Parts: sequence; structure tokens; C-alpha cells
Amino acid sequence: MTAKTPSAPSLIGRLSTPSLIVTMFLLGMSACVLGLVVWKAYDARRIALVQSETEIRNLVRSLTEHASHTIQSVDVVVDDLVALLRFRGTPTTVFNDRLREIVDNLPHLRRLAVLDERGDLRFASIAQVPHINYADRSYFNHHRDNPHRELLITGPLLPRTSSQPVIALTRRIETPEGQFAGVVVATIESDYFLEFYKMFKLGTNGSINLINGDGNVLIRWPALSTQVRDLSRGNLFQKRLKDSPTGYHRIVSPFDGLVKYYAYEKSGRYPLIVTVSRSEASVLSGWYEELRSDILVAIALLACIVLLATLLGSQLRYRQRVENILREREARFRLIDANIADVVLLLDNKGVLVFVSQSSKAVLGFTPEQLIGQSCFDLVHPDDASSLRLHNLQLDQPSGSERREFRLVRPDGTMIWLEANFRFTKSERTRRCDIVCTLRDVTQRKRMEDEVEALNFRLAEMAKTDGLTGLPNRRSLDDFINNVFATHADLAVLMIDIDYFKGLNDCLGHQAGDEGLRQIGKLLGDVVANTGGLAARYGGEEFAVILPGSDAKAAMALAETARIKIRDLALANPAAPNQRLTVSIGVASRTAATPDASTLFREADIALYEAKRRSRDCSVAAPVYLGDAGSLVPEVEARSGTPA
Ligand code: GH3
Ligand code: MG
Ligand code: MG
Repeated sequence: MTAKTPSAPSLIGRLSTPSLIVTMFLLGMSACVLGLVVWKAYDARRIALVQSETEIRNLVRSLTEHASHTIQSVDVVVDDLVALLRFRGTPTTVFNDRLREIVDNLPHLRRLAVLDERGDLRFASIAQVPHINYADRSYFNHHRDNPHRELLITGPLLPRTSSQPVIALTRRIETPEGQFAGVVVATIESDYFLEFYKMFKLGTNGSINLINGDGNVLIRWPALSTQVRDLSRGNLFQKRLKDSPTGYHRIVSPFDGLVKYYAYEKSGRYPLIVTVSRSEASVLSGWYEELRSDILVAIALLACIVLLATLLGSQLRYRQRVENILREREARFRLIDANIADVVLLLDNKGVLVFVSQSSKAVLGFTPEQLIGQSCFDLVHPDDASSLRLHNLQLDQPSGSERREFRLVRPDGTMIWLEANFRFTKSERTRRCDIVCTLRDVTQRKRMEDEVEALNFRLAEMAKTDGLTGLPNRRSLDDFINNVFATHADLAVLMIDIDYFKGLNDCLGHQAGDEGLRQIGKLLGDVVANTGGLAARYGGEEFAVILPGSDAKAAMALAETARIKIRDLALANPAAPNQRLTVSIGVASRTAATPDASTLFREADIALYEAKRRSRDCSVAAPVYLGDAGSLVPEVEARSGTPA
């Protein structure tokens, strides 16, 4: 694994704090919802206004047509009457019947009347024509004073014979010479228009006006308490009608002061203008309702967004907490990984390295990248590989662990000893089996162990060796005799004592004595070598030789060989009669009657004593018989060289 210091968080990373993300989410989503609501509201308002304009325009067109046709149907009659009266002269009273018939055929026509040049009622569509003068009526004065023959529409007027307001349609009557001869009057009840206008649903504060060419309101539906009748000074007559005979505008109503959308249209045939208006509140009432429900939906959506943002925030905070914990763990892990003295490995169940700690470079000399993917056995010295095969490891138990030591050759050629601790792991999550291994460099410890082992070996050797002569000491001698006595029926023991050695010390000093001991010890070792026997320093200036497998004769022969070779060393001993350093040897060999090793030594010692008694510088074999005088009599004596 490569140790990689976590880089400092980027600008985006630093800005990606949970609260910032949540705030941005909240603002973004809220802006979307509000934007959607505003856009939808704006569009719906536009559509509502367009639809309303179309409806109002269509209605004003229809009502204008209606008013024109209504007036026209009456005007035809009035015009006919004017022509009749002009060219046929004054009719008889039968004319009243004719007028009644005409009125009966036109339901919207209430009355037909003819006034003479003084304003007196001459004819009427009623049974009894009363004597009433209408010279005070404005339409009468108008026709009397103006030679124009056009239809005059005035109203609303309150008839003299009825309380129902009417609209009067009047035309001037002339004599054939063109003199004013009276007025034909036709009346239409205002209710006729009002009943018709009632059918249209214009909402609260909506209205329909029928206006004559002078700006007088003939019909207004619904009626107002404060009647405004003269609109001639208003914007409609002063400006708009001059610009266009039809139009659609947003105005402040002169009747009630409310903001309204209204359309007007002027009849092409008569001095008639129809206006239809709807209050803005009424036009937009549907839109307001839709807007209210949209706002409620938006509030619900915003509540959901806030809820989502809260959840998102808690999730993000939780995730950040987990990330922080993981980051801390990762940092700790990296710290340990970079500073641990041991090498940590992770192996799959085939021994392939899947993870290697950074310390491998310092300990093993290999980087983790060089090792990952390799078999762990490739690291092991060939001589140690067999002991490390994974199937040799007892790791089949989930808690199993094993310790092994092996050598590894580093890339620089140096060899190190490693102690490996294997532990079997089984992931609960992946159910995968892995082996965790820690490697520790134990080269130093191994070296010290070897040194201690060598030291112990030397100490053991020293414990068994005589320091002066280098021969095995008394302890070794005891161990050896016990062993061979148990295994060998043929067994011989030589007890060797230097002659007059005290005198040598006295004459030549202990240094010379020690040298004599060393020379004799070495010689005895050489003589015994390759015989399977043992030469040992018995104590002081005495030596012992044990010869397993030797009978008495062979033992005697070897004793003599040794004795002669010692004398031939020609070491000076001024205390000895022959001036040379010599030895006396007692030889004992095992027989069937020899009960134990100490008996054998005692017999050899007795034989040595006999050799000393006789002349020294000789070998005497046991058993030794006690003579008559109680002196020892050797059974076998060997002597050579110069007699004492
Ligand atoms: P004999 O011929 O009867 O054996 O006479 P001896 O003088 O050899 O016998 P004795 O037992 O009287 O003397 C043994 C001497 O050996 C006494 C002691 O000074 C000497 N000796 C014992 N061990 C050592 C040693 O390690 N070094 C030296 N230089 N002398 C030793
Ligand atoms: Mg002695
Ligand atoms: Mg002696």
C-alpha cells in the first residue's frame, strides 16, 4: 500500500458543508417552486385577460347588433309613418287602429304616436287618444328647430300615461313643402333592453350601457343609485370614439370608480353606442382562485422541501460524521503503518499478498508495491520454505494462530531472520478467509541466541574439561564410566600417578609442574584417541583412562605404551632417582564378579599403590594378592626401561 497523505480539501470540498448544501438545496428548490407559481400565475392572468377581452368584445358586438336591429325594426315603421303623413295628408281616426296593429306586431314597440306642429297628440296606438301636449319634450323642440330628418333617439323618458321608462325614437314630419308638421314618436320600454341584458353574467360590478349619439345613457344595466346620464364630456366621446368606432380598454369607471375592462362599439347605422364592462376583480376572480390553490400547493411543496432539506441535512451531517471518523481512522492507520517496526501482511487463502505495510521497505528492503500480488513463499529462504507451507499451519480454526521463523534474503543480499505470526481471519461481512501476518526482524535476537548457545556449549564443555590439561575432568570421567559400565562387559580402567611429583614442584616450581601435567595429559589424550576410550585428569597429579571393549591384556598393553611414551618425553624431574618424569599405572579390568564401576576403580587404585610400592615407573594389573606379611603382591607387573 502506498502511504499517501490526504490532500487538503478542495474549494468545492470546503464549500460542500452540509449546511451550505442544505441551504442551497432549500433556496434552489424554493426558487423553482416560487418561480413556477409566479410564471404560472403570470401566464394564467394573461390568458384570463385575453379570454375576457374576447368575451367582452364579442358581447359588445352582439349587443350593438341587437340594439341596431331593435331600433331598425321600429325605425322602419316610424319612417313609413313620416312618409305617409307627408304625402297622404292628415289621416282619419282609423289611423289609430292601424298604429295599434303595428304595435301589436312588434312586441318590443310599446307605443306609436303622432304629434302635430304644436306638440298636441293627434294619433296614438291606443283606443282613446287623450288631449296631451308634448311641446315641452326635448325631442319635439329638436325636430321643430332642426330641419334634419334623421331618427332621434332619446331617453329614458317617463311617459305621461305610464310609469315605465321608455326610449323614444322620433322623426320630424314635414309638409310636402318642407314645413315642420309634427313628430312621429315610437317608444320602446326600457325593460325590453334590461330584461335582455339581464341574461348576461358579467360578474360583480359588470355593466352594459346603451348610449345615444349625444352621450346620454339610454339604458344601463344594472341600474345605479346615482345615475350618470351624460357621458358626452367623458373620454369615450371626447377621444376614443373619434379614434375608432370600437375599442377595448382598462379604465376607472365614471359610474362607480372601480377599475374595469370595457369594450365599446358604435352602431354603423344609428347614433348608438353600446359599452360592456367587467370589473377587474370579476375578470380575474377565476385566476385569483387558481392562484390561491397554486399558493396552497406551493406552500405544501415548500413544506415538503423543508422536510426533505431537514432529512438531507441530517443525512449529510451523519455522512460527514462517518467520513470524519473514517478519515481519523485512516490517519491513525497511516500513522501506524508508516511508523510500525513490524511488517503487517494480509494474505489470501493461497498465500498471495494483498496488503503490505509501509514498514516493509525498511525491514524487508522491498516496497509494498513490489510485494503485493506475490506469493509470500517467494520471500522465504528456500531452506525454510517447506516449514512455512500454509497447509502446515494450523490455521483452519477462526481463532487459530501460528508462529514461524524463517530467513529472507533482502535485495542488497543480506540475510535476515524473521519471526512471523500468522492469524486466520474470517470476514463476517464478505465471508472471505484471509490470513493476517506480522513479520518482525529477529536477526539480532537470533545472533544473540546463537552466541548464548555457543557460550552455554563452552560452559558445558568447561564444566566437563580440566582447565590445565584440557582433558575431561572427574565429572566427565564419572559420567563416562557409568555409561560404559552399563553397556560393556569388557572394560578396563587405568589409574596413573606421576612419580615424585611433589619433589618436582619443590625443585623446579609449580610452573614446571603444571607444564609436566599438561605434557602428560596431552600424551594420554593422544594415546587413548581412536580407541573409544577416555583419558581424564582424576585429580592432582593423577590421571585415569577408561577403555571400554578392552580386556586386561589390551589394557595392560596400552598402559605400558603410555607409560613408556611419558618417560620418553624426557621431562626433567630432579626429585626422581632417574632424573626423569615417570608415571606409575594401576590397571584393573572388569570381570564377571566386578559389581560396579567404583570397585573397578578401587582395584585399579590398589594396583597403582602396588606399582608405587614396588619401584614406581611401572604398570601393575589387578587383582593384587596380599602377601603373607600383608604386603601387596601383584598378579601382573610390567616394567621396562631403567629399573628404580
Ligand atoms: P609418589 O611418587 O609417592 O607419588 O610421590 P609424590 O611426591 O608424587 O606424591 P605426593 O602425594 O606426596 O605429592 C603429590 C604432589 O603433587 C603434591 C602437590 O604439590 C603436587 N600437585 C598436585 N596437584 C598439582 C598441580 O596441579 N600442579 C602442581 N605443580 N603440582 C601439583
Ligand atoms: Mg598422588
Ligand atoms: Mg605422585
